[in-house]
Amino acid sequence: MGLFSDHQPMFVEVETTTYCNRRCTYCPNSMFDRGLRKNEVQMPEDLFHKIVQDLGRNHFCMQFSPHNYGEPLADPRMPHLLEMARHEMPKARIALYTNGDFLTPQLFEKLTPSVDAFVITQHGEKMPPGVKEIFDESGGSHPKIRYKTAQMIKANASNRAGLIPMQIKRREACGVVMNELHINAHGQLILCCEDFLAQKVFGNMRDMTIEEAWSSEERLRVHRGNVRGDFTLDQCATCGHGRIT
Ligand code: SF4
Ligand code: SF4
Repeated sequence: MGLFSDHQPMFVEVETTTYCNRRCTYCPNSMFDRGLRKNEVQMPEDLFHKIVQDLGRNHFCMQFSPHNYGEPLADPRMPHLLEMARHEMPKARIALYTNGDFLTPQLFEKLTPSVDAFVITQHGEKMPPGVKEIFDESGGSHPKIRYKTAQMIKANASNRAGLIPMQIKRREACGVVMNELHINAHGQLILCCEDFLAQKVFGNMRDMTIEEAWSSEERLRVHRGNVRGDFTLDQCATCGHGRIT
């Protein structure tokens, strides 16, 4: 039995590239240059492999997603990386979150054996053409695709731990991310999905196993405080949700 036999992370997010082709106003990529092509950082393949191997060794069977703030399908290695992830973590639910801009029917076919769910968010005015083709070919919907529009995001947007200026309702407590692991393209184990600038890093996956990441005392101490609403980090104290109009 693996370390996770009693208590698994519900969600593990591993960013393979920092690059995103879009600059959505409700995303820190519109305010910082981290997501630009010229600044792109790709997670080395051997590090990605080590992480999914670690998870597989621990019988990981919850959700795995290859993103943080980079667009996963802008990474040409994605079909290969997800084949590797599928092989190492046969029980995991692999969910690919994408803006759909680079998706084509051919790429979709390549990815489908590895991916359990495609969560596609339309950030522009129109459905990306490749996504439209996939829907047209499959009769208007596909069991593996969940399609969202930016309106849905704007209705309850996160201020990304204080990075996006907006009127927000502050979090009174935060418990969800205690059950999640978030690793950026540099291999850093970061606070949570909101930690765009890696303001709180608990370690680097180059130097730690997934078991050590999961049981990191510091990570647990921060999140235990957050569960009680006792925020010790500035970014947690300014974190919340609002509506973008
Ligand atoms: S597509 Fe996603 S990651 Fe890229 S800028 Fe928009 S919200 Fe951010
Ligand atoms: S409160 Fe802190 S840990 Fe929770 S989502 Fe916000 S920044 Fe992340």
